[in-house]
Amino acid sequence: MISTVLPTYNRTPLSFVKGEGSWLIEADGRRFLDMGAGIAVNALGHANPELVSALTEQAGKLWHVSNLYKIPEQQALADLLVDLTFADTVFFTNSGTETAELAIKMARKYHYEKGAPRETILTFEGAFHGRSTAAIAASGGEKMVKGFGPLMPGFRHLPWGDMAAFEAAMDESVCAVMVEPVQGEGGIRPMPEDQLRALREACDRTGALLILDEVQCGMGRTGKLFAHEWAGVAPDIMMVAKGIGGGFPLGALLATENAASGMVAGTHGSTYGGNPLACAVGLKVSQIVSDAAFLDDVSRKAGLLRQRLEGLVAAHPDTFEAVRGMGLMLGLKCKKPAAELAAAAREAGVLVVPAADNVLRLLPALNIPDADITEAVARLDAAATAYEGK
Ligand SMILES: *Cc1c(COP(=O)(O)O)cnc(C)c1O
Repeated sequence: MISTVLPTYNRTPLSFVKGEGSWLIEADGRRFLDMGAGIAVNALGHANPELVSALTEQAGKLWHVSNLYKIPEQQALADLLVDLTFADTVFFTNSGTETAELAIKMARKYHYEKGAPRETILTFEGAFHGRSTAAIAASGGEKMVKGFGPLMPGFRHLPWGDMAAFEAAMDESVCAVMVEPVQGEGGIRPMPEDQLRALREACDRTGALLILDEVQCGMGRTGKLFAHEWAGVAPDIMMVAKGIGGGFPLGALLATENAASGMVAGTHGSTYGGNPLACAVGLKVSQIVSDAAFLDDVSRKAGLLRQRLEGLVAAHPDTFEAVRGMGLMLGLKCKKPAAELAAAAREAGVLVVPAADNVLRLLPALNIPDADITEAVARLDAAATAYEGK
């Protein structure tokens, strides 16, 4: 008989009942160091007191009114995000996938309103933009799309890192280029800064819009508020979700006034998107994470974690191949099956997240204490030793 919860996930047999910072407590009392942070979502750790207050204070006042009315918390968060970024305007959603949907609609509508509709959206191999029919069409991965056709047309998938293929594909028929500055699900693959700049230049040349998916790599994860800042280029449209809600469902699409020009009243909407609860939490997360000293500390912690992981790889050359990634978005490229190593890590009391390309992802809370970083890598070391002894 089918499980009462639709069996679309391969779940690990652990049930957590409580979280404290970077720690998760299992129903049986065992404590796990959480280096996955709900897949880059719990950006400020579990049960963060400031977020708990933001949520409970708002919960006692008002949860939902619909977007028929002005929502002060939504306005405040939009104002802050516009202040902090390239963007002139923000639309709030409840997830990354919904943000991808709007990004695609906005890009197509932009060209339509300019009087020259364009269909083609270029994406890259290994991309992940969500699980809606449009988002799976965008990523094109065999496992994600098989059996779900017909898919939304118009996407063209290019090899990752092949700039000759990209330049050859760029012409005046291209509506938009959609890319993660650091691929997450694809195996923690940063796009080199010169390539990101080349995308920007090609978009400027052809009039295509640049859509950056910062759902996983944004909100301070790389040590800048958004990953594209490292390359010194700005997108026309940016997708944000995961970390911005700190665990409360919230997504945001940020755009320039020009890119958003087609999205007039009636062209898009969401019942829950931008509700007072989500925005009260998102505002608190954004205030904390955008602080320059906080971001500097992310980079410092990232340096510590990276250094420890390099040591781990050096100590286990038959198990691990390399460390890659940026900031607190790091990947351990494995020489043994990553899923087996994730299981061994779990046995040793540390949680990591497998990704494509046989990589283990480390996406800890951005405020993880240094001692927890040291402890996490010590546990990974114990896990590798135990695995190798089997
Ligand atoms: C997780 C993710 C998404 C999808 O977000 P959901 O909230 O699961 O819909 C989209 N893009 C990237 C880069 C992601 O990591």
